[in-house]
Amino acid sequence: MPPPTPSSSVVRRSHEERVLTTLRAEGALSRAALARRVGLSRTTLSEITAELLARGAIVVVDTDSATRRGSGRPAERLALDPAAGQFVGIDFGHRRVQVAVADASHAIIAAGMERYPDAAGWDRRVALALDLVDRVSGSHSVHLDALQGIGIGVPGPYAGPEADGPHLTWRRQPAPERVDEAFAERFGAPAVVDNNTRLAALAEATSQPGPAGDLLYVRLSDGVGGGLVVSGRLITGAHGFAGEIGHVTAVPDGGPCRCGKRGCLETVASVSAILAAARSRGAEVDSVADLAAAVARDDPAVDATLREIGTTLGRTLGAAAMVLNPDEVVIGGEVARAAPVLVQQAAATVRHELYPVSSTEPVTVRAGRLRDSDGALGALAAVFHQSPLLSDYPNLEQATPVSLRRRAQ
Ligand SMILES: [Zn+2]
Repeated sequence: MPPPTPSSSVVRRSHEERVLTTLRAEGALSRAALARRVGLSRTTLSEITAELLARGAIVVVDTDSATRRGSGRPAERLALDPAAGQFVGIDFGHRRVQVAVADASHAIIAAGMERYPDAAGWDRRVALALDLVDRVSGSHSVHLDALQGIGIGVPGPYAGPEADGPHLTWRRQPAPERVDEAFAERFGAPAVVDNNTRLAALAEATSQPGPAGDLLYVRLSDGVGGGLVVSGRLITGAHGFAGEIGHVTAVPDGGPCRCGKRGCLETVASVSAILAAARSRGAEVDSVADLAAAVARDDPAVDATLREIGTTLGRTLGAAAMVLNPDEVVIGGEVARAAPVLVQQAAATVRHELYPVSSTEPVTVRAGRLRDSDGALGALAAVFHQSPLLSDYPNLEQATPVSLRRRAQ
């Protein structure tokens, strides 16, 4: 698929990004020095710094009068505002919420985590998260006066208020339709909400410098979820479950799945399914840590189990990859890191599936770079404006009429 056509807003973001990255790396600089460093004209640079100053991403720290030689007006020196949180990422899990605050250059400047019981309702979860944002900001002396956006990851599918119907009823504790409003109102910034597995896909797609391409993501955890990034865009689908590869039938007439079907990928490749399959071959494994230890000592039962499941996983991923032709297939979740053989076997199977059409440029299949504990980074990926990624993210502005009204006043 060709890269997205650059638009003026994308070019401007790219310029902003270079200015911010340079200021982070080099500290305070005059506009003239900054223009030379990033290779922009003085005029373009002035436009960009005016915008960044206006939204509180950078500040004037002093002038160069102390070091300046010759006559003329001293030049102002600009720097990142080290205390200005620009983006907030919030990741709700089943038993904890994580928060990360990033500055204008996308560096994390504050982060924290709060636990709650699995049964905690959404009012309680949201209240805990709001308090957590205040607490981590306060303890790191970060202010949110210039906040640009809030990304929120929730478990289960999220497609906004229109999404309902029988296909969602098997999920536990779906997030309330307007979880974003509480955050948008409190912090006066636009908020986007999406499924946290899909946001992890977005974070994986942007985990390396350069434009994000096409990526197929699957996460092996208590369940099996997935996400799809096409031309740098997270795909939601008509009913919010694009990328839900966990409920593709992987074993015809296989075991029952919680979704009501039989033989879904989740019944084979969830962590509990992997452990049960290894135990059925005589391996004594009750956790991902046990599995990692068994892999390290070349336990033959565990090896055979992982190769068999890796093959099934690879066939399902291969079918999806044949349809989508992604640059990368990423297998996330702690088990993928703990058991490299699972990823290797899936990779070999995907390549085999794709061989007839892509013998010259096989797809890259790799384990996820982000850990399960990095959920807030996925939420942040949803609000970073570093690339074309979010230039047309669904309803970023329409999603939060409350905050936009507040800003307009
Ligand atoms: Zn299923």
